[in-house]
Amino acid sequence: MATSAEVDAMRRAIAISAKGVGTTSPNPPVGCVVLARDGRIVGEGYHVRKGEAHAEAHALAAAGSLAHGGTAVVTLEPCNHVGRTPACRQALIDAKVGRVVIAVLDPTSRCEGGAARLRAAGVDVEVGVLASEARVVLGPWLTALGKQRPTVTWPYVARSSGIDVADEDLEDARLLRLEADAVLRGDGRVTEAVPGSHGIGMLHLADYAGAMEPDRITAALYEGGVRRLLLVGGLAFADPFLALGLVDRVYAYVPEDGASTVPSRSAPWLIVPPGFSIVGAVRLDGFVRVEARQKGSSGTSGLEGASSAGGHSGARPHAGSARAASA
Ligand SMILES: [Zn+2]
Repeated sequence: MATSAEVDAMRRAIAISAKGVGTTSPNPPVGCVVLARDGRIVGEGYHVRKGEAHAEAHALAAAGSLAHGGTAVVTLEPCNHVGRTPACRQALIDAKVGRVVIAVLDPTSRCEGGAARLRAAGVDVEVGVLASEARVVLGPWLTALGKQRPTVTWPYVARSSGIDVADEDLEDARLLRLEADAVLRGDGRVTEAVPGSHGIGMLHLADYAGAMEPDRITAALYEGGVRRLLLVGGLAFADPFLALGLVDRVYAYVPEDGASTVPSRSAPWLIVPPGFSIVGAVRLDGFVRVEARQKGSSGTSGLEGASSAGGHSGARPHAGSARAASA
């Protein structure tokens, strides 16, 4: 049973884990807080990008010897594989923490991950603490992992005259790019959402031209390390993605115009696509921003559980005109 100090620390770890959203992919955004033996917080950290230290390593570095006999509180199961950085379970064992509190197990570990190894080393391990709150941040990464494609967000302007392309110059568009890995535009161009944010060579992106097969494109982007994808284009561009169930979240920007108007029926739907439910509506400068998610996906738990995509077409994507590692 987690103590109230540990639960409190987990909420802190969840909050700081979100600082890595938009830069850690293909790795997950993870946060860690270390409590000393007496329960004081003595260190915290989060994963910034692949190839750099994991959250646990940052938190343990801050804690130093105060981690001895203490507790590490981490939003995702510590890794067990030695890659570009040492395995976190070994770092935790070397730091002599007595207990590790985990929110969400890593689905890729198949029960042979850090938790099992930590237990085998005599560390007390508790799993499932604030798991649903941790999924608010981890959800899109977990969904991408489960579906082997990025979670996809499509913003658009819902004018009274019909659906229009979202303006990329708006401040809100910039904020959406901050939490995305890549942007796919209507002309087939793919760019890192914030140039340089993932580090050199961490994303492998290719433009798409000619006949675009949406499910092949999203699968290829996943292979290239993209876990959160932003679609920038109009209805004709997004429709094939919608038809295959590949869009997880939409933002409808509804301009503030007259209080008494007649909306056009030029679009096939009025405000959000069929199969989507509104989970938020926020007034911005000049717009109301309506957030909607595929029914079956959870509104508060990231995007995990979004209904599965259907359909698979046999045609081949016309990909690879520019295999550009991100700068
Ligand atoms: Zn790790």
